Amino acid sequence: MSRYIGPSCRICRRAGVKLFLKGERCYAPKCAVERRNAPPGPRAQRRRRISDRGAQLREKQKARFAYGMMEGQFRTVFAKAERQTGITGENLVKLLELRLDNVVYRLGFADSRKEARQLVRHGHITMNGVKTDIPSAIAKPGDTIAWKESSKKTKYYEAATQKIESKTTPNWLSLDKQSMAGKVLTIPERVDIDTQFDEKKIVEYYSR
Ligand code: SF4
Repeated sequence: MSRYIGPSCRICRRAGVKLFLKGERCYAPKCAVERRNAPPGPRAQRRRRISDRGAQLREKQKARFAYGMMEGQFRTVFAKAERQTGITGENLVKLLELRLDNVVYRLGFADSRKEARQLVRHGHITMNGVKTDIPSAIAKPGDTIAWKESSKKTKYYEAATQKIESKTTPNWLSLDKQSMAGKVLTIPERVDIDTQFDEKKIVEYYSR
């Protein structure tokens, strides 16, 4: 599956908001949006006014990049959200949030979704005791997400156990910091999910 491999900070500067794509750097003064919140380009550009369609596209792109997805994957998740009962925008956000790579990120096993995706891809994570290397797998209430036993011997794991002490766990997840095992307690409510995009505009974008 292909993915975006260009500069992450460029995406945030284009969007004009911090999308937290790089982990620790995003919370440091070195963050490109903190230092120079202007669109990328050779010369200093002012933000142009954009059309309604442009605004819808921008929100969709923000969501897509925040969760590290390509257009095709994102559209597939949107189609699934549309088929579910309830408000499509909220369904979309909940489905994105329940992706395995995002759950690993929210549990604090990784500093960014990109890093979480790498952990899953490289087979360090188990879901209900079974190694799962598919970042797009959707977790459900009751699922346990943990580290593979052999991965607990790595330096990365050791560092993660130290970092996790200062991290908080969302209320829809539980985490045992001793064993570094987490559980999905419930499907998150929209209010429990912090996002940098407006999902209503994404629904408008795909409704044309
Ligand atoms: Fe770069 Fe992170 Fe700042 Fe975005 S939030 S500009 S990815 S450092």
